[in-house]
Amino acid sequence: MRRLFAWWVLVAAAGSVLAAQGRGGQPAAGPQKVTAIRAGRIIDPATGTAAANQVIVVAGDRIREVGPNVAIPQGAEVIDLSRLTVVPGFVDAHTHTAMTYKEVPENNIYYYTYVADSTPLRAIQAASNALQMLSSGFTVVCDVGNNGMYADTALRQAIEQGVMPGPTIIPSGIIISTTGGQFTPTPEMYKYHNIVWPEYLEANSRDEIVKAVRENLLFGAKVIKICLDCKPWGYSVDDIKLFIAEAAKGGAKVNAHVQTRDGGQRAIDAGLHVISHGQQLTPEQHAQMAQKRIYLASTDTPFTDYRGSAQGQQHAAEQLKSAYDKGVPITFSTDMDYWNEKMKKPDGEWMDRGDLTINFLLTWKAAGIPAKDILKALTITGYEAADVVKDQRGPIKPGFFADLVGLNGDPLTNIDAVRDVQFVMKNGAVYKRNGVITLDKLLHPGPVSGFRRR
Ligand SMILES: [Zn+2]
Repeated sequence: MRRLFAWWVLVAAAGSVLAAQGRGGQPAAGPQKVTAIRAGRIIDPATGTAAANQVIVVAGDRIREVGPNVAIPQGAEVIDLSRLTVVPGFVDAHTHTAMTYKEVPENNIYYYTYVADSTPLRAIQAASNALQMLSSGFTVVCDVGNNGMYADTALRQAIEQGVMPGPTIIPSGIIISTTGGQFTPTPEMYKYHNIVWPEYLEANSRDEIVKAVRENLLFGAKVIKICLDCKPWGYSVDDIKLFIAEAAKGGAKVNAHVQTRDGGQRAIDAGLHVISHGQQLTPEQHAQMAQKRIYLASTDTPFTDYRGSAQGQQHAAEQLKSAYDKGVPITFSTDMDYWNEKMKKPDGEWMDRGDLTINFLLTWKAAGIPAKDILKALTITGYEAADVVKDQRGPIKPGFFADLVGLNGDPLTNIDAVRDVQFVMKNGAVYKRNGVITLDKLLHPGPVSGFRRR
């Protein structure tokens, strides 16, 4: 009885705290930290133009003012980036933070990774990968499935709640697919061990499609990822339209894995938001995508010492060039979800997930796409594909979240400048300064940004 009473007091006290914190469970707002950044130049990738000697005033997590003659507020911390170029944060429009398949022991076959690496282990890999990507300037990451049992939505939750810093994760939850997903299991593993789940969530009928979309949204997905044509019995135009309508109820868009020409046509006809891969699309289909403004995340694997082939890179570059020439909104995207012992820099240091991700520039350069347009794909077009502009995230504009990167050089003329990231700010907090990660004030033992944030 006494115990029960103690519980009641606790619950009542928690209730009043909740009321004080508001619906988001956020702590009461204290005085906002104000920062003034002196930028040598700011690039607007939307127009491909630069403005010299700018001041960016950041209040809390948002940009308050930007311009050449902006007064520095009294008491503001001043950050001197007068020797650097400031650009908006980068976007990887297709990756898998909680998937790392390896040569040893699984011979690069991710079925085995899925069997060998538990979701908790993969969630820790995802947290590490997210920090590495933020260090390379990626402030938005579309994490489109193959994350075990929702490691991706857990990663987003941890970052949104302020437990750890990281990019804004756009997680898909489990990839929704017709029977089999991308696997070819044995009958015994399929029927008696349900081996496809949770790497794939099977949905064949219209009722199953609605249910699968709702489950993913319930567990925190911000985009719906489907396997459109992973099997010959993939989704029809009507099925895809149903996915789009159901996802929209939860404010999400649909991104599809597309590997065939026919599947690509169904995606285009249904008016999909993002086509991933699409390596078999024709120039005519690229023209249709441009006309319908369907985003392409073609995951263009470069040929390097550690991965890929000359032929593979050439095909990816030709496809990318065709899409660019036809005016498709192209995004920087990678599928960077593997590791091997050859991933080292000339000085013998390991490449990290951010280095490996930005190295996909090799294919973009091989395609002959101008630097200013690669920068646009890496930023503005990525924000649109990730659907974050509606949340006021992306461009360096007053009212938007302060997600900024400072780098040496001029990425409008030499895109490799984006490899030399010296400064990273996300949500107004400095993550990297003078090329060094500063974590001291960004790791927290609790949800300092609000425990209900998803
Ligand atoms: Zn992928």
